[in-house]
Amino acid sequence: MKTCIACGMPMKDPAEFACGDTNKDYCVHCARPDGSMQSFEEKRTGLTAFIVKTQGFDETVALEAAESMMKKLPAWMAYF
Ligand SMILES: [Zn+2]
Repeated sequence: MKTCIACGMPMKDPAEFACGDTNKDYCVHCARPDGSMQSFEEKRTGLTAFIVKTQGFDETVALEAAESMMKKLPAWMAYF
């Protein structure tokens, strides 16, 4: 089983892969509408907004949480 390099989500079903392509290393949530992988900035912004919405954290705390999650993921390690 593969794990998304950009968010850590396990991917089993082709529908969970970007473009339904099981050769891709990232999931449908980390892909842009054109199928390419989101940038570091896009992912950080999206993840921060997601944490604010789901955890009710304020933006500063959510940004820190997003960055600490991203630090552990192969796609973003080089950014820290
Ligand atoms: Zn992902």
